[in-house]
Amino acid sequence: MATKKKKGKWIVKLLKAAVTAYLLLILCQLIGNVYSKLSITHKIPVSEEWNLIVVNRWNELPEDYSVELTELSNGQKVDNRIYPYLQEMFNAARTEGIYPIVREGYRTAEEQQEILDDKIQTYINQGYSQSRAEKTAKEWVALPGTSEHQLGIAVDINADKSKCSNEEVYAWLAENAYKYGFILRYPPGKQEITGTSYEPWHYRYVGVEAAQEIYEQGICLEEYFE
Ligand SMILES: [Zn+2]
Repeated sequence: MATKKKKGKWIVKLLKAAVTAYLLLILCQLIGNVYSKLSITHKIPVSEEWNLIVVNRWNELPEDYSVELTELSNGQKVDNRIYPYLQEMFNAARTEGIYPIVREGYRTAEEQQEILDDKIQTYINQGYSQSRAEKTAKEWVALPGTSEHQLGIAVDINADKSKCSNEEVYAWLAENAYKYGFILRYPPGKQEITGTSYEPWHYRYVGVEAAQEIYEQGICLEEYFE
């Protein structure tokens, strides 16, 4: 009688171990799947079309990238291929009483590094340690090679404050920029995918066709390639 009981317990233990091992195996597979999906979404092949190149914290500026620039009246520069569309968009805004300006256009890698260094210094001045200052600054400022401003086809747009407010400009752009080939590059709620939090001023040229699709589907540029 006693041996039978022991044998029964032994079988139950074996079964439990088998079930646990099986569940662990399934869990590992699930984690693996999620992980590979995440890495696929973050790496996007370099587009052969200049207006569809993705640059973000996981996708660096192509090494051989070069750009011809047009200088705006306030000294900011943009890729000369987007200049006509930018001008058309600003003209349309003005006819509706909205007065946008380009606060920042093209940036070189050196300028990007300077912005990062300034940010690090600001944190050090606030009493942060060197390593903590660097870590915090990198959460806010893109590393050289990963800023879309280095493409020359992204612009930070603000208001001519003597004529209207930033909020009015952002609202107009959110509704109309796609008609001229520009998209809100860092929409709210997409930070996990873009790597950047909501920036209502940052617009990026992708061409009218892609911009319309992105606008209508409410997606971000990275999702356009899925
Ligand atoms: Zn920007």
